[in-house]
Amino acid sequence: MTAGSNTDFVLAVEGLTVSFDGFKAVNDLSFYVDENEIRVIIGPNGAGKTTVLDLICGRTRATAGSIKFRNQELTKLKEHDIVKAGVGRKFQNPSIYGDLTVFENLEISYPTGRSVFGALTFKRTDAVVQRIEEIADMIFLKDQLHTEAELLSHGQKQWLEIGMLLIQDPTLLMLDEPVAGMSVTERQQTAKLLRTITKDRSVIVIEHDMQFVAEIADRVTVLHQGRILAEGTAEKVKADPKVVEVYLGH
Ligand code: ADP
Ligand code: MG
Repeated sequence: MTAGSNTDFVLAVEGLTVSFDGFKAVNDLSFYVDENEIRVIIGPNGAGKTTVLDLICGRTRATAGSIKFRNQELTKLKEHDIVKAGVGRKFQNPSIYGDLTVFENLEISYPTGRSVFGALTFKRTDAVVQRIEEIADMIFLKDQLHTEAELLSHGQKQWLEIGMLLIQDPTLLMLDEPVAGMSVTERQQTAKLLRTITKDRSVIVIEHDMQFVAEIADRVTVLHQGRILAEGTAEKVKADPKVVEVYLGH
């Protein structure tokens, strides 16, 4: 593929590099994500996984390379314009409002929703309420709609934050270690949730739990020292001696 050509990929990352004081945390990275794909990124601590998400969402500026999201170049865009273009990103620690209910947390995340500081213009229309209920059902919190978020379990808080992103209907959703600290049952429910939401979008997940990875991944990209060590199905990368040596063997 030649640089600058249009593609059918949702995300086309080419030659992506970021250098922090001469240290290349991400080094000439290229990978492509399809529509409706769940891509999992694995790799040892410090491999550059989180930095890749930081680059895609515009939190960190690339030193070189290109990130095309539906053929739109993201490396020059500001963080909030990348969100507007349809890229949602969940950080490792959930950022929800503990003193608001599940309903209210989803409501403030609704596009053009009222702000936490109380905008006067927002109308709680039937359409908004219906969308909030749909999302709450999807994230297994239908019966907790009027519970204050701080009273939710750790796993439920993670789901709520995913819901707050889903209500904005992103085309690409990126999740950094979403099942860390979750129970086995919550992990299984999260796998189900991810399969449901990729009917309408693509998802990039950073994850360590190989059982969970095998369950959800269409393809796995293994990062090591800012570069791709291996890529393919979970089965294929698990059997790759290079991957076993630098990651799975530890
Ligand atoms: P991972 O998520 O795979 O554990 P990270 O992407 O967080 O790894 O980090 C990759 C490397 O880049 C690490 O060595 C980290 O210390 C370094 N790094 C990440 N962000 C910055 C930054 N803003 N400034 C300097 N170094 C950074
Ligand atoms: Mg990380």
